[in-house]
Amino acid sequence: MSLYRTKALLDLLMPRVCLVCGRTLAVEENHLCGACRGDLPLTYYWEREHNLMADKFNSVIEKFRADDEYMPYSYAAALLFYHAENPYKRIPQAIKYLYNRRAGKDFGTMLGEKLSSAAHFADVDLVIPVPLHWTRLWKRGYNQAGVIAESAARAMGAKYAPDVLLRRRKTGSQVSRAAGERLSNAVSAFCPNPRKRPDGCRHILVVDDTFTTGATLAGCYLAIRDAFTGREMPRISVATLSVVEAV
Ligand SMILES: [Zn+2]
Repeated sequence: MSLYRTKALLDLLMPRVCLVCGRTLAVEENHLCGACRGDLPLTYYWEREHNLMADKFNSVIEKFRADDEYMPYSYAAALLFYHAENPYKRIPQAIKYLYNRRAGKDFGTMLGEKLSSAAHFADVDLVIPVPLHWTRLWKRGYNQAGVIAESAARAMGAKYAPDVLLRRRKTGSQVSRAAGERLSNAVSAFCPNPRKRPDGCRHILVVDDTFTTGATLAGCYLAIRDAFTGREMPRISVATLSVVEAV
């Protein structure tokens, strides 16, 4: 039986619906109906070295790089805008909370393709996901940032390295914390894995599902820098599936 016919049969038995509007999908559609796919709230941040997300991220890590001689502007981009009142938020939510691994892979691939199309991301050779604390990973069996990062790495022709960073502890909900506390909390949450030192790379990309304050990614950024103490420092950039609008 052809793949198309198998999918058609499966769709009859178990209809697939659009993640955004809930409409039943046609056989050739995946995750989104044609209308929702045509209307994706793409950021186009990958086309600009300087954008709102990158400026925000650089202002967060700025506090920690005063004593660093090599600390270039960090590139940052997200695939989609995230807005609490916009139904497109259901894409990252489905990947994170409903464990929709296939959507994570496909949108991760899309993210990787967009980044590859930009000259300043084209030389990324190592992709690192924001790690979950091992107890949470054990409970969930799934790290959404890892699913997105692995597919993005493949689309970019870069190496995927899920175990370069360790999460020392769970940071819990960050929402109610003051900004300064949130940052120091996130920064101390990550450390380099002494048994998995990244070597010989020029441009590292750290990937998460959603960019809100930038504190989590800043924590990863600083932990990666620690891994390179005394060695030649690669450029470190960040990318996410979605970015909370008006960052
Ligand atoms: Zn739709």
